[in-house]
Amino acid sequence: MKQFVVIGLGRFGASVAETLAENGFDVLAIDKNPERVQSIADIVTHAVEADATDEEALKTLGVRNFDVAVVSIGDNVSANILCTLILKELNVPYVVVKAPDSLHGKVLTKVGADRVVYPERDMGARIANNLISSNVLDYIEFAPEYGVIEILVSEKMIGKTLGELALRSKFNVNVMAIKRGQELFISPGADDKILEEDRLVVIGKNENLEQLKSF
Ligand code: ATP
Repeated sequence: MKQFVVIGLGRFGASVAETLAENGFDVLAIDKNPERVQSIADIVTHAVEADATDEEALKTLGVRNFDVAVVSIGDNVSANILCTLILKELNVPYVVVKAPDSLHGKVLTKVGADRVVYPERDMGARIANNLISSNVLDYIEFAPEYGVIEILVSEKMIGKTLGELALRSKFNVNVMAIKRGQELFISPGADDKILEEDRLVVIGKNENLEQLKSF
C-alpha cells in the first residue's frame, strides 16, 4: 500500500492528510507549528513537528521511504521550492506541491515537482462554471483548456441514442459516462439511449464543452 507524507498542515494539507488516513493509508504529517501537529495527531499514523526546509530533519524522519509527498507550506516561495528540491533529492518518486499562482508553479516544476496544484484557482473556476449554467452540475479542469463536465441532458437529447446525437462529430467531445439515479454506466456505446434526467459526464476542450452546454 502506498505511503504518504504530507508537509504543511494548513486547511489544504490537513484535509489531504485526513482524507488519506480515513481511506486507510499510512500518513506521516509534518508541520513546524506544534498546534497544527497536535490537532491531527489522533487522525494520521504519525504526526511530527519539523522544519520542512531542513534536509537532515527530513532524512531522519525517513521521508525517502515514502511513495508520495504532498507539500503545502503556504505562500513562502523559497520554503516551498527548497522543500520540493530536498524531497526530489531524497528520491521521493512523486511530489505534489500546492502553488499560489502559475509563476510559482513553473518554478516548482523546474525544480522537480511532479505535479503542481492550484486549489483556489481550480475551485473558483469550478464554482463559477456551476453557477453560470443551470444544466451544468459539475466541472473539473484537468489541463489548461480541457475539462470534464457533468451535464443534465437537454430536451433534445431525451429518447435518442448516443449514436444519433453524434456529439463527438458535432462538438468534438466524448461522453465518458451516463449517470442514471444512483447508477453509473461507464464508456457508453452508440446504442445507449438517453433517458429523461440522465446526466452525462463529458470530456473535451472548454470551448467545445461551452457549445455543448447550449445544445
Ligand atoms: P490553506 O490553509 O488555505 O491550506 P496555506 O497552505 O496557504 O493555506 P497556511 O495556512 O499558512 O497556508 O499553512 C501552511 C502550513 O505550513 C502552516 O501550518 C505552517 O506552519 C506550515 N509551514 C510553513 N513553513 C513550514 C516549514 N518550513 N516546515 C514545516 N511546516 C511549515
